[in-house]
Amino acid sequence: MSKLDENLRALDGYLEARKSRGITNLIAGRFEPAADGAVFETRSPVDDSLIATVAKGRARDIDAAAKAAKAAFPAWAATSGAARKKILHKIADLITQRAEEIALCECWDTGQAFRYMSKAALRGADNFRYFADLAPGAADGQSLPTASHLNVTGRVPIGPVGVITPWNTPFMLATWKIAPALAAGCTVVHKPAELSPLTAHILAEICTEAGLPDGVFNLVNGLGEEAGRALTEHPDIKAIAFVGESATGSAIMRQGAATLKRVHFELGGKNPVIVFEDADLDRALDAAVLMIYSLNGERCTSSSRLLVQQSIAPTFQAKLIQRTKAVRVGHPLDPQTEVGPLISQGHMNKVTSYFDTARAEGATIAAGGARSGDKGWYVEPTLFTDARPEMAIAQEEIFGPVLTALPFKDEAEALQIANDVAYGLAGYVWTNDISRALRVSGALEAGMIWVNSENVRHLPTPFGGVKASGIGRDGGQWSFDFYMEQKNIAIALGAHDIQKLGHLPEGN
Ligand code: NAD
Repeated sequence: MSKLDENLRALDGYLEARKSRGITNLIAGRFEPAADGAVFETRSPVDDSLIATVAKGRARDIDAAAKAAKAAFPAWAATSGAARKKILHKIADLITQRAEEIALCECWDTGQAFRYMSKAALRGADNFRYFADLAPGAADGQSLPTASHLNVTGRVPIGPVGVITPWNTPFMLATWKIAPALAAGCTVVHKPAELSPLTAHILAEICTEAGLPDGVFNLVNGLGEEAGRALTEHPDIKAIAFVGESATGSAIMRQGAATLKRVHFELGGKNPVIVFEDADLDRALDAAVLMIYSLNGERCTSSSRLLVQQSIAPTFQAKLIQRTKAVRVGHPLDPQTEVGPLISQGHMNKVTSYFDTARAEGATIAAGGARSGDKGWYVEPTLFTDARPEMAIAQEEIFGPVLTALPFKDEAEALQIANDVAYGLAGYVWTNDISRALRVSGALEAGMIWVNSENVRHLPTPFGGVKASGIGRDGGQWSFDFYMEQKNIAIALGAHDIQKLGHLPEGN
């Protein structure tokens, strides 16, 4: 039996229960349908077959979940960091145990290739382990004494938080948000993307099995405009951690304004990979191919613009065309597959519409440029050449396996092109000149730069973007900055005369 057949058989087993029972919400420790019984369908992008029906939560369900999170908050916030650590480690262990199920379900629900999703599932466990270990020290502060007062500063969890996630690598992205929130002592209402609800439900099962008290973690499925909006508007929810499109981020900011929500946004990108003539060109080529065609190009940090120095552009592009044509498109459960189907027919139509845009703008489609097959939402890995920086294909986030190549003359022009977009999430610089690497990295308008490397993430480092790519940072203590409030306690060291202290009371 081939590995694909083995995976398909295993998937059938995992999906049996989901098919009969459907995907529910989790509110106050109970797995239950939407209050009004409404459902929507989740279908596989491989063949458009029905996977399961999903509870269609609306404002009423969000209200129940937010109230459950509010009720559970005082006890969870008061739970020792050591006890929280233990439960989060248990969640990580259970993720590891169910990693194959998570990976296969993710592939079937999203079209992402198994070779990447098997690693993403385990990365979800890493996220829980990492923040579990930080939980005991999350509230740690410092003392700032003066002659008259001892100031003690520390952190307290902000309260119940909403987590809204997208459909690309949905399990892993959800764990980035949920693990630090729980480690900080916050309670959570998670609203996953309606196009990929399968693994969010598995995470809810795992959280329950690991012994998270009722109401600490709640899951409400539903549409962005209904459940998502209600979560951002709910007065009991103190903060919203959101990953998704920049336009949705703006909407959430508006929606949350009335209740003064704290927001953390990880949004879109149009990230440059800049290849200078002195770089290790073979390694740069490998990285450029990986960073656009892995994860179907449905990746916020994908290097969707290749900026290549004119002197090497013809040779580099010729090799790139060969490599792009050789990318293996196929069934996402086949371990050989590099690119699977895109998430939905709507998204496939959006991505393929850029092929017409490229033609109309006068670019050359050097590889790909069409839908692949007629079943499922497959798109050929595509390369545009002869593009100019102002073209839509060089400015807009396409979010598919589509790369736009742009030649540049020198360092100044590379930077000008790289920064002349609305986004600023990541940048990749390839050069063997360390001075240039530092100069270019410093001048790039992006939250994260990799030099002579593809995206390799170290969990304690800050992750996030500038400009239209986001607000705030994830990772290490930066995550706690978002999920926690700083609090200062000033203790008088004895009787004192406020006039003699030489200053007026401040902050009144
Ligand atoms: P999306 O913005 O359409 O949806 C994301 C989530 O927001 C979904 O759960 C959706 O239901 C919800 N939502 C939609 N409208 C809402 C509203 N009015 N109020 C509240 N919630 C609402 O994004 P998507 O299409 O699912 O994901 C792809 C996008 O995510 C891309 O732009 C990609 O770059 C971005 N992304 C960014 C990062 C990052 O770290 N910067 C990571 C992954 C994805």
